[in-house]
Amino acid sequence: MKTETITLPGDVPGNAIELRVLRFEGRDANAPTAYLQSALHGGELPGQAALHFLVPLLEKAEAEGRITGNITIVPQANPIGSNQWQAYQHLGRFELFTQTNFNRAFPLLPDFDVSSLPQIDAALPLAERLKAALLRLALPHEIILDLHCDDQSENYLYIHQDFLPEMTDLAVALGSKAILAWDSTADAAFEEACAYPVLQMPVDTRDMKRRAVTTVEFRGLADVDFATGRSDAQGLYRFLVHRGVVKDDGETLAVAFDGPVTPLANVEMVRAPQGGMVLYHVVPGDEVGEGDRLVTIVTRPGDPSGDVTLTAPQAGRILTRRSLRYVRRGDDLLKLLGKRPSAVARRPGALEA
Ligand SMILES: [Zn+2]
Repeated sequence: MKTETITLPGDVPGNAIELRVLRFEGRDANAPTAYLQSALHGGELPGQAALHFLVPLLEKAEAEGRITGNITIVPQANPIGSNQWQAYQHLGRFELFTQTNFNRAFPLLPDFDVSSLPQIDAALPLAERLKAALLRLALPHEIILDLHCDDQSENYLYIHQDFLPEMTDLAVALGSKAILAWDSTADAAFEEACAYPVLQMPVDTRDMKRRAVTTVEFRGLADVDFATGRSDAQGLYRFLVHRGVVKDDGETLAVAFDGPVTPLANVEMVRAPQGGMVLYHVVPGDEVGEGDRLVTIVTRPGDPSGDVTLTAPQAGRILTRRSLRYVRRGDDLLKLLGKRPSAVARRPGALEA
C-alpha cells in the first residue's frame, strides 16, 4: 500500500487541509478498479470504521499477490467538515461558511475527462476545490462506494435505477436491508457526480456488470464499534472479491437480494406538523400496517390533549428515525418504505436537505 497526502491550501493564509489517499496497485490491468471513501459528512463514522478494518485485509491480500484491480481509499474525505465544531457540538453535514451540504453541488461532467476540474490551488473556495479533488480521485474507477450513515437506521443503499439489477450483489455482500432507487437527480451528490458520466454513455456501451456507484448508508451515527466495523469490512471485502478486484477463493457470494428495491417516490418522509418532544412507537426494521401509530409529538408537556399522534399513510417498513427527541415544526421524523407512491408531493432530488 502506498500512502499519498494531498495538501489543499486553505482560503486564508496559515490554513491547509490534508487528504490521505491509500492506494493498492492491481496486478491485472484488465481487472475492475475500486474507489472507497468515508466521512464526507465529517462525523459519519460507521464507514470509516469499516475502512479501518478493511485496509489490513487488503494489505494481507497485497502481501499474497491477490490484489488484481487498483484500489483507492480515502478514509477521511472531508477534513473541513471533520473540523467543524460549535458550542461543543460536531456539525459535519453543512459547510458552516456557505451552509451548503458537503454532499451536494458536485460538478457533473459529461464524460470521464477530469481535466476541466479546478486544481487544488485554483482561485476557488476550499470546499469547491475539495469536491473537485475527490472527484478527480474517484472517476477513474468503475466501482465507487461513498460510505455514509443515517441517524438511527437500517443498513441501506442509494442506487441509480440504471445500475440495477447488476448492483444487487453489493446489497447481498453488505447485508443491506433495502435499496432506494433514484432516477432523476440527487442534487449533484457525490454519487450523482460519479454516476453522471456513465449515464451519458449509450446504454449498450456502459458495461454495468463491471460498474457500481452508490451511497452506502451504513446504519446510524452511533453504530460504530469493533464488531460492526469488522463485519462491514468483511462485507466490503466480499464485494471486492466477487467483482474480481481482489482474489480470494475462500469468499463466495450467493447473488440473490430479497429486500425491497424502493423508488424514492414510494418513500414516506414523515414530518412533524408541530414542534415538541418526540415519543416513537416504532424502531427501524419494524413492519407496519396502514393506520398504525408511528410517533407521538408532545406539544404541551403535562397536557395530553396537546399530543399529536401520526399514523402510517400506507403499510411498509420503517427504515430510519431521528435520534434527537426534540424537533421543530416541519422536521423529518422517519422514513417508511411503501409499496405505492406517497400521496405527499415531493420535488425531484435528494430526500433530505
Ligand atoms: Zn452522509
